[in-house]
Amino acid sequence: MLAILYPDTPLESDAYRETMHFLENLPGVSLRVHEVQGAQQKLTEVYLLGETKSLDKDEISALPAVERVIRISDDYRILGRHRDDQRQSGFTYNGVNFGQDNLNVFAGLCAVDIPEHVEAMMSALQQHGQVCTRMGAYKPRTNPYSFQGHGKGCLPWVFETAGKYDQKVIAMEITHESHIEEIDTCLEKLGRPTGVMLQVGTRNTQNFELLKAIGRQNTYPVLLKRGFGITLNESLNAAEYLASEGNANVIFCLRGMKTEAGLPHRNMVDFAHVPTVKRLTRMPVCIDPSHSVGSRDRAPDGMLDVMHATAQGVIAGANMVLADFHPKPEKALVDGPQALHMDELSAFLQDIELCHNTWKKRQALYSGRQGTNQ
Ligand code: PEP
Ligand code: MN
Repeated sequence: MLAILYPDTPLESDAYRETMHFLENLPGVSLRVHEVQGAQQKLTEVYLLGETKSLDKDEISALPAVERVIRISDDYRILGRHRDDQRQSGFTYNGVNFGQDNLNVFAGLCAVDIPEHVEAMMSALQQHGQVCTRMGAYKPRTNPYSFQGHGKGCLPWVFETAGKYDQKVIAMEITHESHIEEIDTCLEKLGRPTGVMLQVGTRNTQNFELLKAIGRQNTYPVLLKRGFGITLNESLNAAEYLASEGNANVIFCLRGMKTEAGLPHRNMVDFAHVPTVKRLTRMPVCIDPSHSVGSRDRAPDGMLDVMHATAQGVIAGANMVLADFHPKPEKALVDGPQALHMDELSAFLQDIELCHNTWKKRQALYSGRQGTNQ
């Protein structure tokens, strides 16, 4: 069960003390308090865990600091979408809005290589009105002898260049909790010219200690990739690990599943799960067409498979697109063959806008028809 307190309830107020005293003394029930800092107000959510079946919802609703009570299921307690659950989805980070109704594109380099390429990418993004990008500094690689990313050495010039080209949020994978501090120290030293969304890669989806460490901080939001060989439920539970430690600013990323059934694509494209994740949870949903498709194969209609997969995800309501681009793909140190080219950026962005608008029109088409087939 979840008790949501009135916004901005002071911790020293009688109403708060009385409410918490009552809840703390419920037999067999333990409490977990979760603070949600919105743009205008602070929300306090009190999760009641344990013996909650026999609790009287009306009695708890009547406590002086309680605004409303939601009965929640065991799955995805914080991030889940529960019956009668009107809680907001999404968050704002560094001036950029992330929700289940809007869309942000993160085009950029799979792996940071040289300053010229980072600059060419970010300058093109700025010219196209984009404020988000992807830049890999810490790369998890299958082969230990492959390039592992420049690590913290590249952070200063990547962040400075982002500031120069007005990039507000960089999606950057981390593979170890020490990377959070490396990123934070560098950003702080530079006066925070940009922001970072910490990316957890598919190989680390169930690295629970990493998830807990990332969840313990609230400075950076998280992009969690679906595990490539586990169920959707298992991946959503991994996201809940972040929230259970205190960080609910999580975006869930579909990136395809590892199975030969997906061939000739690198992974089996799973973007039909975009609306499913939005139904089960309040997380914005990202699609990664580059790592799903993994090639520059082109259909007879002239469009790359990557473009088609992107369109499928966006038309189904995706909220974020993570895509590999490179100014000189033949020189890229990681995933060059699947990268989109700079002269494809404009059409790609227009295609995405078209599909996002079509999703909105589809929504209007079906609005008011909920329940007609139930
Ligand atoms: C990536 O986005 O660079 C990446 C390694 O993706 P994934 O974890 O989905 O393989
Ligand atoms: Mn890659």
